[in-house]
Amino acid sequence: MQGQYVLQPLVVGRFPAFPIAKFLYQSNSTETIEAPCISWLAKSTSSNSVVLVDTGPAVPTAETSKYHQLLDVSEEHRIDKVLRAHGIDPLEITDVVFTHLHFDHCSYAEHLPNARILVQKTEIQYAVAPNPEHKSGYDAGYKHVLPNWMKAFDKFEIVQGDVEVAPGFRILALPGHTPGSAGVVFETRAGRHGVVGDLVNQIENWKSKDGGHIAPAINCGVDLCLDSFARLEKEADVVLASHDSRMLDSAKYGISL
Ligand SMILES: [Zn+2]
Repeated sequence: MQGQYVLQPLVVGRFPAFPIAKFLYQSNSTETIEAPCISWLAKSTSSNSVVLVDTGPAVPTAETSKYHQLLDVSEEHRIDKVLRAHGIDPLEITDVVFTHLHFDHCSYAEHLPNARILVQKTEIQYAVAPNPEHKSGYDAGYKHVLPNWMKAFDKFEIVQGDVEVAPGFRILALPGHTPGSAGVVFETRAGRHGVVGDLVNQIENWKSKDGGHIAPAINCGVDLCLDSFARLEKEADVVLASHDSRMLDSAKYGISL
């Protein structure tokens, strides 16, 4: 039987005033919105597989707060503490997938001792030597700053392209937001649910008012984003957003048809 998962959004940080124009390509909005950083927990209903997709940002330092968007993160947002607050033992986490290595997606995984961490090879290569305009997203190339994912590097399992990790748990290469961006598709009782990082920051990236897709404004190629959307059309029935507070309206996803 195909494995099935139940998904749960966990808030692991918050941008108190994020510009909409940075989420939606060609938006001329001057507004800002409160944008949570969401780590998605996916628990198998039939095995011990417990997956986290992304782990959120670290508490800003004097250095990183100089060039990051204003971020509200405290010690209480650390992924292992958030899991405990939801009644989940961090030791239960079997797998972590980093959709990409931007600073707000991949911190504190060293506090998940039993998890292996699945990351795309292309993304690791780009994260250590990005183009200058992408340096701040990766914390790359700043004095006295070490990207937080490096603290868990000994647990990395490097993958490339699409990978069937376990029944009902598949990684898809979805480049566009970054060169090595990936998504995860989980089988659930309510169809295939895609957790796709910042390809879909806001619900509107996936489903705009006119029904089409909108690339994320932070991207490494709009065409790549559109190709990844087209793939996702075939691979997922439901697509979940990474920084959209409306995702928190439901405590669980994938539980019923
Ligand atoms: Zn990102």
